[in-house]
Amino acid sequence: MEMLNLFRSAIAANNRERLADLLEEVQAFDQARLLLDLTTDERQVIYGLLGPEMLADILQELDYDEQLPVVEELGVKRFTQVLNEMSSDDAADLLGSFKETLAEKYLGMMRREDADDVRELLAYPEETAGGLMTTEYVAIKKASTVKETIESLRLIAPDAETIYYIYVTNNKNQLAGVLSLRDLIVAGPGETIGSIMSEKVVSVPVTMDQEEVAAVIDKYDFLAVPVINDDNVLLGIVTVDDVLDVLKEEATEDIGQLSAIRKIDELEVS
Ligand code: ATP
Ligand code: MG
Repeated sequence: MEMLNLFRSAIAANNRERLADLLEEVQAFDQARLLLDLTTDERQVIYGLLGPEMLADILQELDYDEQLPVVEELGVKRFTQVLNEMSSDDAADLLGSFKETLAEKYLGMMRREDADDVRELLAYPEETAGGLMTTEYVAIKKASTVKETIESLRLIAPDAETIYYIYVTNNKNQLAGVLSLRDLIVAGPGETIGSIMSEKVVSVPVTMDQEEVAAVIDKYDFLAVPVINDDNVLLGIVTVDDVLDVLKEEATEDIGQLSAIRKIDELEVS
């Protein structure tokens, strides 16, 4: 509440520097909550202030029904820039809810490589591993050394959904091993990935139902699980935060059913 008032007065005073400072102080999730409490006009000031990366982070924190008005307010050009910066899975979820012609329009305006990732994900049914996964994972070759891998992580990290697991693939992009960032850091710089990776990789098929995917992650206590096709080709990863959303949806459905049952009971009593 306090923060909201500080925000409002900075907007009213058109004090952009102060606003930028205030925004810096809070997490994307809290920025998103603040944004929803503002008026449309006040939000426009924020949109003008933030770059597409920060706007993408904020949009990803909103539920679907909260995203739509923000999308509308951003306008076509700005929203397209934001789409380019969103995780491919979040962008696909959002565009997947649009009419096909509208989704195509945005995909056509997006950066080619980002649009290709999103198009690929849109092809998978929503409630499967494919519909849940992101294509922003870290994969390297067996022959790389630890030192080389740490160097390439510096380049890949900003765009990867998580860098905690590093997947090892062969020349056909088939999944051959896995290691954690911890495994990498404690190894000597000259060791090869092949010598420190684990070959016993738990993966899920792209067609697996999302609730089963959640159960796999829960069972092994992983932060993410790789998604493969019938040829063991690595297609993406499902991260624990996406699985939490699935479990939350499920719980809400169950609670919904419970209250429906209670209503029926009450009707029968009266
Ligand atoms: P530990 O639990 O051993 O202390 P950690 O807490 O750093 O390690 P965890 O997330 O628990 O990391 O992962 C433990 C191990 O599981 C890591 O060595 C990692 O390589 C491995 N691992 C990660 N993903 C998979 C997977 N999909 N299949 C098999 N092993 C995996
Ligand atoms: Mg552990």
